[in-house]
Amino acid sequence: MTLPDPGATARTRVRRLPDKAVSDRDVAYAILDAGLVAHVAVVTEGQPYVVPVGYARRGDEVIFHGSSASRLFRTLAQGAATCLTVTLLDGLVLARSLFESSMHYRCVMAIGSCRRLEGDEEVDALLDLSEHLMPGRTQDARPPLPQELKATISLALPLDEISVKVGNRHPEDVPEDLVDPVYSRIWAGYIPIAESFGTPVADDLAAGVAPPAYLAHWARPQAPRT
Ligand SMILES: Cc1cc2nc3c(=O)[nH]c(=O)nc-3n(C[C@H](O)[C@H](O)[C@H](O)COP(=O)(O)OP(=O)(O)OC[C@H]3O[C@@H](n4cnc5c(N)ncnc54)[C@H](O)[C@@H]3O)c2cc1C
Repeated sequence: MTLPDPGATARTRVRRLPDKAVSDRDVAYAILDAGLVAHVAVVTEGQPYVVPVGYARRGDEVIFHGSSASRLFRTLAQGAATCLTVTLLDGLVLARSLFESSMHYRCVMAIGSCRRLEGDEEVDALLDLSEHLMPGRTQDARPPLPQELKATISLALPLDEISVKVGNRHPEDVPEDLVDPVYSRIWAGYIPIAESFGTPVADDLAAGVAPPAYLAHWARPQAPRT
């Protein structure tokens, strides 16, 4: 089945600043593959909550997990409507006015409802989630026990209906500020923000243990510069 392009459905069409909309599904998937944290919305008893979660893309779905005791996760497991966003913050844009100042970002929004993963599919998904967040770690860390799986709700949100917005340009100042004797002379542009991993810090038990070789390959993908 061919999935609709990002922004192709009535409720995912970007209306505000549509020049930032991207309709390429590969771009959406690259953003999802570069991120570590998603924000998932759920409404219970009329109150919206937005929950940050670690996630991974698995084909045309995003997978994430939470506690079986969580009211919010149980609501999502029952198929409640949800919205998930992944935001990569790439910079601060300093315009000549505060109003036009903004951010560089890559953002994917997915709407729909989750399905609960169970059995072997759940175990595979949890290993994929671990590998996305901590590449190489499934080689040496203990896999989940049955009681740990019982304590876990694993969910998959299909990426059927998604939208993408990317902000990556210089400030777009109003013409008056570009010729204003004061504001045309102040610095303007953008300050890139890059995420990176620091030096590994062992806990007391691991103090004499060499850090695993796979850590040497961990890197945060940086924003493509335009
Ligand atoms: C890091 C960051 C900071 C931001 N800061 C601000 C801010 O301070 N003020 C502000 O007004 N806006 C900000 N935005 C933009 C904001 O996310 C919305 O795009 C904007 O507010 C317009 O919302 P809307 O519902 O009116 O858009 P509409 O264009 O009416 O939304 C229609 C559809 O477009 C899609 N869409 C909208 N926004 C996004 C998005 N960000 N990513 C992917 N799809 C999207 C959704 O599918 C939505 O249903 C920021 C975005 C990011 C990523």
